[in-house]
Amino acid sequence: MTPRMGAICLFASLGLATPAIAEMVALTGANVVDLDGKPAIQNAVVLIDGERIKAIGPAATTQIPAGTRSIPLDGKWLIPGLMNMHVHLALNLPGAARVYNEGKDSVALRMLDNAQKSLRSGVTTIRLTGAQDGVDFTVKKMIDSGTFDGPRIHTAGSSIVATGGHGSTEVNGPAEFSRAVREQVKRGATWIKLGISGGISDTHGEIAASPFTDDELKTAIEVAHRNGVKVTGHNGSPLAAEAAIDAGIDGFEHGYFLTPPVLTKMKQKGVWLVPTIVVSQQGAKEFYRKIGSPDWYLARVDSVGKAHWETLRNAIRIGTPIALGSDQYPWEPNEGTTATIREAELYVDAGMTPLQSLRAATIEPARMLGVDKEVGLLKPGYLADIVAVDGDPTTDIRALRTISFVMKGGKPIVGRPAKD
Ligand SMILES: [Zn+2]
Repeated sequence: MTPRMGAICLFASLGLATPAIAEMVALTGANVVDLDGKPAIQNAVVLIDGERIKAIGPAATTQIPAGTRSIPLDGKWLIPGLMNMHVHLALNLPGAARVYNEGKDSVALRMLDNAQKSLRSGVTTIRLTGAQDGVDFTVKKMIDSGTFDGPRIHTAGSSIVATGGHGSTEVNGPAEFSRAVREQVKRGATWIKLGISGGISDTHGEIAASPFTDDELKTAIEVAHRNGVKVTGHNGSPLAAEAAIDAGIDGFEHGYFLTPPVLTKMKQKGVWLVPTIVVSQQGAKEFYRKIGSPDWYLARVDSVGKAHWETLRNAIRIGTPIALGSDQYPWEPNEGTTATIREAELYVDAGMTPLQSLRAATIEPARMLGVDKEVGLLKPGYLADIVAVDGDPTTDIRALRTISFVMKGGKPIVGRPAKD
């Protein structure tokens, strides 16, 4: 009797439920893409023990232990699960599809539905940049506990803003800002999101304005950092950017009107840009029409589209750190693919190499989140968050359109049934 069988018998004799025994899984026949730019490992074996990668190597030299379950992925290309750093799982934009007077129960179910669809589309980690009523913390707990499938969630809780600004929790003055930050951290936020400039969906205020006082900004960021939590700013304004960089902010979302001097300063200080370029480009218009967005909203999208694109091009040219985020549901249809994948394609159109874009969708977000020793690469010891595509995305980023297999933490979510 093996020790493992002994354990099963012991549990059986005690009348206890048999514990789930992590079995070894081998992904075979695929090529493993290297994100450092080295050649892919052709015809590889990826050995997975429980939720982590145990070994990766060529089939000829990588032993598959007896009793391992094999999943054949012949001719596919394996990359880390995609990561999307700007997500609202219960998006509620102006338009005919807007849900009015929505209760927490409806928010929770919509969040869960979108989390599941996101994971099935190949996105294994997301960062929530503004959710309602603390429901995000519950959804995260239910996914982390294994009750529901969904991506790994990092969340900023409710976004914090000066009264009248672009966000949910409205406060004023340093004391109220510090309290608001502490409240989100207490609830479980691992990021803080500040709305430091106007947004496309606002009906008032200039996107380029900077409504926070210096004291408000500094206090909010200091309190977050003292709690070990990073801060990102919804920001399209160079003015607000300068003040926030000086106050020690960690990143900006969108960056609609950011200028080359600001983007250079961001590079020098290691401040991240999460572009969400899809929201202001052509593909999103289908989406806005679908949800019945009003004319004023479409006009505001148009007004930022060109500047937003220039910001992205400049950021790539300058070398500002970029982590992918879509601000649409990660799985949302966009120009024949998903918003996440379209976002990665637009990075290439704006000047990234396909490898840089793939990194912006995997290891760069992991670095931004501080989890780059856990996810974002396919290496022994890393969590087995793995996606298979039909071609080499470091040659043509459009290969991401062919996702046919998704695994999160060693569990196949989409793809071929396992073969014993
Ligand atoms: Zn957003």
